[in-house]
Amino acid sequence: MKDQTSYRMELTGVFGFPVDENPTVVMIEAAFRALDLPWRYLNLRVPPADLPAAVKGLRAMGFRGINLTIPHKRDVIPYLDEVADNARIMGAVNTVCIEQGRLIGANTDGKGFLRALNDDAQVNPDGRKFMILGAGGAARAITVELALAGAASIVIVNRDEGRGRELVDLLVEHTGARAAYQPWNDDLAIPEDTNVLVNATSIGLYPQDEEMPRLNYATIKPGLVVCDVIPNPPRTRFLEAAAARGAVTLDGLGMLVYQGAIAFKLWTGREAPVAVMKQALAAEFAAQ
Ligand code: NDP
Repeated sequence: MKDQTSYRMELTGVFGFPVDENPTVVMIEAAFRALDLPWRYLNLRVPPADLPAAVKGLRAMGFRGINLTIPHKRDVIPYLDEVADNARIMGAVNTVCIEQGRLIGANTDGKGFLRALNDDAQVNPDGRKFMILGAGGAARAITVELALAGAASIVIVNRDEGRGRELVDLLVEHTGARAAYQPWNDDLAIPEDTNVLVNATSIGLYPQDEEMPRLNYATIKPGLVVCDVIPNPPRTRFLEAAAARGAVTLDGLGMLVYQGAIAFKLWTGREAPVAVMKQALAAEFAAQ
């Protein structure tokens, strides 16, 4: 006898405004297909004023999970039943699990970066010295996780001094990390004892992919680990210049895939097929 048929799908997706160009759907749906799961991921255009109604709709329609992107990561917090400690410190939630009508907020962006650092560059942040370019959402997520993972020191370099100092204060106050602000000038030197340098700005993102952070590239020494958060193109000019100086490089595709893989596991309880996801995204970006 035939198994009982169900045409119902388990629903996940992302709320954003804008949201049309968000490519996460490509890798998450590739993962659902690879594991033969009857799940879908939808790009949902939610204007800021409609966020409360949209969150209510998640419960009503039995969604299993949702991602949040610009401009909802902070504003969603008051509507959640529970928020993980790291997300509370960052003041941003990018992933929500819905379990028996309860909305549980998490942030997987920084954890995705840490997993890429650990699995793909074999770097354990514990006891290492970091220099981070940028103080926006990506920098905030990355540095909170680095601090919680035991980084020895974190230097924040940001164009806007107020934003840079705000992130330093947050790290010191909520994680007890050794953090400091450094102004950004065109001749920025990477201190010799730095273990890892991260571009966490939007400099180099497609279609402005000819741009690269201004710094003294001669101070990048062989063996320095240099990371970029830019996922598209994965091989940025910044990483090319660092590799030419003998640095070990890590691109932003890994962070994007792993933050999605962590969300995938929170929602489905299944280990995400990261190789499938990485291939799906790389193919998508190559086609642009
Ligand atoms: P935000 O807008 O919150 O922050 C942008 C940061 O970039 C700020 O620090 C800003 O400095 C800096 N910046 C932008 N342009 C310049 C410039 N010309 N010169 C110097 N600094 C500049 O963005 P997010 O942090 O959310 O995102 C940053 C990047 O990270 C994006 O490109 C995004 O694609 C990527 N990202 C990648 C992820 C991944 O999984 N790989 C996950 C999340 C984000 P200032 O404060 O001075 O304005």
